[in-house]
Order: sequence, then structure tokens, then C-alpha cells
Amino acid sequence: MSSRKNIAILGSTGSIGTQALEVIREQHSHFNVEVLTSNSNAALLIKQAEEFHPQVVVIADESKFDEVRQGLRELPIKVYAGQEALADVVQLPSVDMVLTALVGYAGLKPTLKALEAKKNIALANKETLVVAGELVTSLATKNNCDIFPIDSEHSAIFQCLVGESHNAVEKIYLTASGGPFRGRDRNFLSTVRKEQALKHPNWDMGAKITIDSASLMNKGLEMIEARWLFGLEPDQIDVIVHPQSIIHSIAQFEDGSMKAQMGLPDMKLPIQYALGYPKRLKSTFQRFDFVKYPSLTFETPDTETFRNLAMATEAMIKGGNMPCIVNAANEIAVAAFLKDQIGFLEMSDLIEDCMNNISFVKHPSYEDYVTTDEETRRKALEFLPA
Ligand code: NAD
Ligand code: MG
Repeated sequence: MSSRKNIAILGSTGSIGTQALEVIREQHSHFNVEVLTSNSNAALLIKQAEEFHPQVVVIADESKFDEVRQGLRELPIKVYAGQEALADVVQLPSVDMVLTALVGYAGLKPTLKALEAKKNIALANKETLVVAGELVTSLATKNNCDIFPIDSEHSAIFQCLVGESHNAVEKIYLTASGGPFRGRDRNFLSTVRKEQALKHPNWDMGAKITIDSASLMNKGLEMIEARWLFGLEPDQIDVIVHPQSIIHSIAQFEDGSMKAQMGLPDMKLPIQYALGYPKRLKSTFQRFDFVKYPSLTFETPDTETFRNLAMATEAMIKGGNMPCIVNAANEIAVAAFLKDQIGFLEMSDLIEDCMNNISFVKHPSYEDYVTTDEETRRKALEFLPA
């Protein structure tokens, strides 16, 4: 049992977090849960802790601290509260790997802290690499840490690159389902409500990434994520719409050969691969049946209708703190759309306004990212209707 890998899961009560726990439940001879954290879902955090017996749990929302402590009073589990605690628990000596399944900018600091303590990362929280990819990946290299992607497209590329360390990648193609509004025009998009945007055709995910998938911002964030994970230039990263979500992404090499990774859309597979690398652990995940998918199709993304993808690409090319600006503006925009404060297309307007109004920093430090994030959120809130 002592050879089990000790995992800290940040955001264990979310879509990725709960699926990670399903994987660990199945593969308990390989993995042990050391830390569980949630933003504010005290009831589920308690239930998870009762089952998995971590050493520590953290509830980020301090008003829920008493509830969690009371709920776990019979068990030898330490309970902490607050954002600062997240940054501390990732450094526990017993933690081997930190799975970042929390959503948004909040993932940046704990990820940097984990890397400072030389922990390997299983990364679902793409916003961390979007905001500060250069800082995060250079710290990982310096401290000899691995970052294993959980995002299905990046897991696909990662899997395609195994055994190819002597060969340069010419290009990658990230596949996109196109989301629930694929083929729709701006007229239609101007009328859509959150209930429609929250219905993704192929994946059941948290609210923020589901809206990002509908607006194609998700694919833009993923281009930036891929740039840092795989050390690519912007012109080496392309997006192709593939509505069936069976091919999870493609790597093209310098001889023209392409490798693709495929399977049914199920996040448990990339989660398990990231936790178990380099082993492919035996699983009972449903297997793909070719006959059920007689045609796999491909289209060019419509970046005139879905402007977020074009703006994120522009931010990737511009570099510096521009992706951080886009990320913060998008977090505010998505939250406002989910509260019915702005329409679907106004999310793009808000992001564009922030890109044009926040000071550009070519070589940001960590402090510059913090300032950029704060300034952009402030500005974005000003742009919202009162
Ligand atoms: P989710 O909203 O379902 O879950 C988020 C988790 O993080 C919850 O446990 C929540 O309590 C916690 N959390 C949220 N805000 C927090 C904060 N400020 N501080 C501390 N904890 C906080 O989200 P999700 O869909 O699981 O996505 C998590 C991350 O994984 C995102 O970055 C997303 O882009 C990425 N991702 C998700 C999927 C998917 O299928 N869900 C696929 C690829 C990538
Ligand atoms: Mg993805």
C-alpha cells in the first residue's frame, strides 16, 4: 500500500474533481487521497472526506468552516478554511501530485506554490496556463516537475508525443465540438439564454467551461494552454471543428505524418492517464464502437460569428499580459451572462473593451499578473450595465 501515489485534489467537488475521485475509487491500489478542497460545497466535501480519509480538507469559503469542522469532528482529519490555506496544503511533504481541478484564476497561486515545493501537477485548471503559462512552465522546468494535462485535447497531444522526444512537432490540431450553437449566426446568438448555452452536446462539465465551449472561448484558452504545455509557436497551433468529439486532437510531425488520439468522450480517461503516467491502468471505461460512428466529420471554425476564438488567438500572438486580460475579462463576462446581466454576444464586446483599455506589459512578473487581473476585473465590472 505504501507505494500508492498521494494525491491532493483542488476542487474535488466539481465536475473534474468528482470524476477524479471515481477514478481513484476504482484504482485505489494505485492512488491515495491526501487533500480535498472545495470552494463552498461543505456537504459534498464532508461526504468525500468520510469516504476517502484525506489528511486535510480545505473549504475556501470561510463562512462554511464550522459546518465542515463539525461534520468531520469524529475523524482525524485537519480542516482549514480560506484561499491562503489552498496555497499551503499543496506543499505538504506527503503530497506526491497536485490535481488542479478548481476553476479560473484562483488556480494560479496554488499551482505556483505546488511547483515551488517540487510537486508534479495533473492540470485541469487551464486558466493557470492561460494567465501565466511562461512563468508556470519555466518554474516547472527549473524544479524538475512534470505537468500532466487533463484537458482532453492536451492529453491527446501528450499521448501522441510519447516516444517522439527526438522528433519535432510541425503542427498540432486541437479538435473542437463546436458547442451547442455550431452553424448558428449572430442574429440567433443575440437571443440565446443561459439555459440553451448550458446544454453541451457531448460533455457534462462545470458551468464556466460549458459557457466557454458555447462561445468557443474554451478553444482559444486551449490554444494558449497548448502553446505553453508543448513549447509551440502560435502558428503551429490550429483548431478544427469535429462535432462527434471522438478524435481528441492531432499531432503532425515534420515528415507529414499525423498521430491522433481517439475514444469516447469521457474525462475519466485523461484524468486516469495523468494520474497514472507512464502506466495505462486497466479500466472498465466504455469502449468505442466504430459502427456507431460511421462518419467522423471536420469543419473550419467560424471565427466571425464566434469572435472569442479570434480574440484569444490575437492575445496568444501578442503575448505578455494580454492572455491574462482576456481571461479576467472572460471570467467576469461569463459570470454576468450566467446572472442574465448581459447577452451572449456582449461577452465578446466586454472582452474586447478590456483588451483595448488595460495597459499592456510585454514581460510580466507574478505581481504584474496579479495587478492585471485585478485591474481587468475592475474595468470589466464598470462596463457592465448597472
Ligand atoms: P466545476 O465548476 O464543476 O468545479 C470547480 C471546483 O473548484 C469545485 O470543487 C469548486 O468548489 C472549486 N472552486 C471554484 N472556485 C474556486 C475558488 N475561487 N477557490 C477555490 N476553489 C474553487 O468546474 P470543472 O468543470 O470541474 O472545471 C475545473 C477546471 O477543469 C476548469 O479550469 C476547466 O476549464 C477544466 N476542465 C474541465 C473539464 C470538464 O469536463 N469539466 C474538461 C477540461 C478542462
Ligand atoms: Mg478541452
